[in-house]
Amino acid sequence: MAYGQTWGGVTEFKGTCIQLYPSDRPDTDFPYKIYEDGKSFRFSTFFYTIKLKSGINVPRFWLCYSVGWNVAYCETCWLFANRQYAYYQDSWVNRINDWRHISSKIDKHESSVQHIDARKNRSNWEKNLTIDKNVEHQYTIEINYWRNVLKRIIKIILSLTAGNTALRGHEHKDNQGKLSSPGNFLQLVYLLAEFDPIMSELLNDEKNKNKYLSWKIQNELIDILASSTRNLLCEDIKRSKWFSINMDSTLDITKTDQVKHGAKNYEQLTTNVILELGLDINMCRGQGYDGAAVINGFYSGLQKRIKDKVPTASYIHCCAHNLNLVVSDAVKSNQKVHSRAPRWATLAFGEGNANKIKQTVLKKVCSTRWESRHVSVYALKCKKRRKKYCKYSKK
Ligand SMILES: [Zn+2]
Repeated sequence: MAYGQTWGGVTEFKGTCIQLYPSDRPDTDFPYKIYEDGKSFRFSTFFYTIKLKSGINVPRFWLCYSVGWNVAYCETCWLFANRQYAYYQDSWVNRINDWRHISSKIDKHESSVQHIDARKNRSNWEKNLTIDKNVEHQYTIEINYWRNVLKRIIKIILSLTAGNTALRGHEHKDNQGKLSSPGNFLQLVYLLAEFDPIMSELLNDEKNKNKYLSWKIQNELIDILASSTRNLLCEDIKRSKWFSINMDSTLDITKTDQVKHGAKNYEQLTTNVILELGLDINMCRGQGYDGAAVINGFYSGLQKRIKDKVPTASYIHCCAHNLNLVVSDAVKSNQKVHSRAPRWATLAFGEGNANKIKQTVLKKVCSTRWESRHVSVYALKCKKRRKKYCKYSKK
């Protein structure tokens, strides 16, 4: 039964009582009650059962006895009787202790409409409880299955991302619409399914259309994992009290910088991120960025703007960026590597071949430099020559 629901007047609390606590049907030394005529009577375990005409004893599950109060009561009416019933009587709900007439009172109550209805309500409630239990059991099986599926999917994502391996790439379908190159993530899922019954069931159960393997789910899981990792890091930072900022921007897929240029924009972004992470910028004790003027500018660069807010946030030129500049300058000073040919080609094929490759690579036309037009057209000429050569050599 769902929380707050009632069934024939029984609340969830009373339902829990039935399930957790046994009915009061003690076999004890029942105390006597002395009547005015001097006679004394008491309750007896004899009343717990009813003798049918066939001679069989049937238990009266509804009849209970409270040792503390020395009273009998009807548990079924207490829990399930309809309080709105026009002829509702609360004597068997509250207490009965007239032991002299207990036998006739039991017979009368047992055949009353109120009691019969309460028994029906109880019977229906118990049936409903059984159905609920079965449904709950099914839910538990389902929940455990999907938890196991998610565990495996998350582990695959974590193992791929830990090695900086892309989950997807150049997937494409063959003529029959099947993925001929499913990508790293799905390939691992298929591999696991060969040995693991849960993943095998996931892939092969045709009734189940939800597989939770789509790129959207992968991205959602990556987001969830990233945010929980971020939260853990933030907890660490908060425990350490002080922190420093290290920031750099990168180009997106369209080769556009992901951050709007301008010291003010950088400042806005930095303070927003710190705020979103629940950190206090006043606890910042260090800043490290690349050497761009917009960042390290002495008068209005990002570092100055942060320093205006938190004077103790010292700035240093990021050591990793510094090292990169050193390596870059060292390479530039070497004529063999820093030549007109592309650097990767020089390293891979040697300078002579690299220059040949450079000639055939198409160049951008610069509208202000006439010389670039010659370089662009010359590359086309080289390509055409090579094609011609290939054509003749095939013949
Ligand atoms: Zn009753």
